[in-house]
Formats: sequence, C-alpha cells, structure tokens
Amino acid sequence: MNLVVMKFGGTSVEDPAAIGRTAAIVAGRVANGKNPVVVVSAMAKVTDQLLRAAAAAAMGDRTGALAISSRLRSRHRDTACALVNDKAACAALTCMIDEKFDALDEVLRGLAAILELTPRISDLIVSYGERLSSHIVATALRERGVDSVHADAREFIITDSEFQKAGPLSDIIEKKASEKLLPHVRNGKVPVMGGFIASNEAGLTTTLGRGGSDLTGALVGGALDAETIEIWTDVDGIMTADPRVCPDALRVKVISFEEAAELAYFGAKVLHPATILPAVRKNIPVLVLNSRNASCEGTRIISLAPHCKSPFKSIAVKKKLSIIDIVASRMLMSHGYLSQMFAVFDKHKCAVDMVSTSEVSVSVTVDSNASLPAISADLGQLADVKYEGKKALVCLVGEDIRGQHGIAAQVFNAIRHINVRMISQGASEINMSFMIDEDDADEAVRSLHAAFFKEPDPEIFDVEARKQLAVSSSRVEK
Ligand code: ASP
Ligand code: MG
Repeated sequence: MNLVVMKFGGTSVEDPAAIGRTAAIVAGRVANGKNPVVVVSAMAKVTDQLLRAAAAAAMGDRTGALAISSRLRSRHRDTACALVNDKAACAALTCMIDEKFDALDEVLRGLAAILELTPRISDLIVSYGERLSSHIVATALRERGVDSVHADAREFIITDSEFQKAGPLSDIIEKKASEKLLPHVRNGKVPVMGGFIASNEAGLTTTLGRGGSDLTGALVGGALDAETIEIWTDVDGIMTADPRVCPDALRVKVISFEEAAELAYFGAKVLHPATILPAVRKNIPVLVLNSRNASCEGTRIISLAPHCKSPFKSIAVKKKLSIIDIVASRMLMSHGYLSQMFAVFDKHKCAVDMVSTSEVSVSVTVDSNASLPAISADLGQLADVKYEGKKALVCLVGEDIRGQHGIAAQVFNAIRHINVRMISQGASEINMSFMIDEDDADEAVRSLHAAFFKEPDPEIFDVEARKQLAVSSSRVEK
C-alpha cells in the first residue's frame, strides 16, 4: 500500500469550484497508484459562523441563531447541488444535509431556552461544519469516479473530555483507526472524514481545538503509518517571509520538523504546531501544498533538514502581542518569586511567549487579550506592573545558526534603525526572536530578508520563481 493522508483546509473546500479542484487532486493521486485517506475541514468560515450561532442562541437570540443556521443550510445545499449531477445522489445528499441542519436547529432552540453554552454543547454545534463538508466531499469524489466512502472521525479519533481542546488518546486512535479505515483502503476505497472533530470514550462529540484538522491528519497518518501526510492549503508552502510584506519572499523547498514547529507557532495559516508531533514520532514526512496551484511541489517537512548555506530558513512575525514588565526589588536574591508570578498566568490560562529576566525585573510577552487588566491586577499584588500593547515578535528560524559566530551582530545590524524592546535566543538554538513595535514589523522583515536571502541556496529555496519574476519585471521595465 502507498498510503497518503491528504488533508484539505477550509479554503480548499469553500465552494463547488474549490471542492472540484480538491476532487481532481485526489483523483490524480489515485491515478498515480496512491491510496489516499482524505481529511477535510469545514467549508471556509463555517466554523466561525456556527460559533456565532451558538453565541447568539446562548444570549436568547433564537431568531438570529436560526437565521445563521438557515444561511449555512442554503450554502451547503447549493454547493451539493452544484457538484452532484446524478439526481438520486443529489437528492440523498440534500436530504442528509437537511437532517443535519434540522438536528442543529433543535440544539440551537434548546440552547436559546436554557441560555447556557457549555464547552460540550459548543463542540456539538461546531462539529456540524466538518460532518457536513466531509459528506459533501465524499459524494463529490464519487461523482468524479473516485471510489470514496465517508468515515465518521468520531468513531476512531478518541480524546479525553477536555471539550473545545481535547487531547487525543493515541493508543486507542491507532487501534480504532486501523480497524475502521484499513479494510476500506485495502479494498481500494478512499475514506473521507472530517478533521477537528472527535469523541471522548463515552461517545460524546469533542473537538481538537481551532485549526485542529491538521492534527487529525497527522494522527491518522501516524496511526496508519502513512508514507506521507499532505496538508493542502491555499499557499505554495512555507515561505522565507510573508510575501504580502516582502515581495521577493521565496518558497522553502525543504525544512526540518524542528524548524517548522518553531514557525508553526506564528500562525495556523500554514500548519498547526501540534501536527508536527504525531508525524515526528513516526518519522513521516509532511508536505505543505497549494490546492490552487497543485503543480507546485510545496514544502517538504522532514526530520533532519539538509545543510543549508544561509543561516535562516524563514522569518516569521506574530503581531497583537503585549509586553508586561514586572519590577520588584523584593525579588533581589530571593527564590520562589517566578513561580508565584507564573501561577498568576496559569490562573488566567494565559500562555506566555517570551520571558526575559534581570535581578529585579521580569518582562514577559503574551497575546493581547481581554484578561490583561485582571492579570496585571493580580501581578500587582506581587510587584509593580506595567503593560503595553501593539507589539510584534519577529522570529528568525534556522538549524544552521547553531554555534555560528556573529549571527546576532548581523541580525541587529540589519535592523539597527529599529528600536528593539526584548531579545531572546531560545534553548532550541534554532531561533532568534525579538520584540518590536507592531508598526516597525514590516520594515524589520524586509530589512532582514534583504540581508539574509541575498544569495539563497538553490537546494533549499525555490530560486527559479525569483528568476522568472526578475525576467518578467525587467521586460516590463523595458
Ligand atoms: N474548522 C476548524 C477551524 O476552523 C478546524 C480546521 O479547519 O482545522 O478551526
Ligand atoms: Mg487550518
């Protein structure tokens, strides 16, 4: 068997055209002798809208909630009808869609009566997105001659009961996924399932957290010992920088798991960080590919990246951060202080990104969030606290900075015109990060990119695209 897990994100199934492209990509893999297992997200924006419907219902706005649901019903029905020509198949599919929306409306009405949205109900409501999209894609594939079967992920992606961010139980998943999926694959069928959704051991619907479909892909790939896991999105792969900010950004052809994990944190845009783990454990390469540009070879994420001449592979930015400065002379020569401080962040379930300490002060960075005033009030019991928003974290990632001399000097020389608020070089030795004002972020990325990607290594970066760009723009100039 040449088993490949193919995960398609929301934009790859957002409308009939996108689903058509996705189906063609899967059909192409089958034609090449592969055995795909397909994982799909909800159609783009559906998850957000389901959450909005849930929130409206929980506030007693029954009409508003049902109106959102009704719009979603039409969107799914229209998509199904546009994709499926066969009358009987179309009738069966729209009937299934109606049944699901009837059940969803029932839950929304109940919620509007009891006015309490628990994490468990939220997961139930939001699960409809993937439950619907997976059925539609399975039928669309059959229409295009791919022998597909729908598989309900909740029967084998088993998690703990931490609703909204459930933790997968890998041993059970491994056993159940093989039992459920392998017989289909052996019979030449292509199973299609929803990502993100799962169930606990009692059979209640859970979800893996926002962006969790990538994790489903990796879990299934790990459980079935896939030869590769393909993550289909709407970008050409991991880039050396955000091309909207830096027009001469290059596609990274190959990158290590460790580097990709560092970058993943900077945006679910490309990859969910936890995706890396189940794949790394089993040494399964992950490919990031573009469903709008299927011929592009994307980015290959492997355990050990080959040596690269440039120190960095990519520059990432995370905006909307805040810095909290905590100053206490009490801290001088005392112990246990940091643990008290972090207990406050723990209490507010607030993740800390970067930390820097001196003898009497600690600065930490966190996502700008609504609990900042409460956090700072609690920290205020321990020390003097100041916080400041509109900060950005710029992070340069590359295995080849390990042990290289003078890299920091080159980095800070490239951005010498920009004021740096905090610096950290992680213990992983493969990233250098610093904090600046959000308004300076784009300029910093362009300056760093110009400094470090002047002569990119053609083994690692797609320099062909840049050459073509140069040729076409010089033609324009003439
Ligand atoms: N549909 C879910 C979300 O939007 C999961 C995913 O797409 O990965 O978060
Ligand atoms: Mg995603």
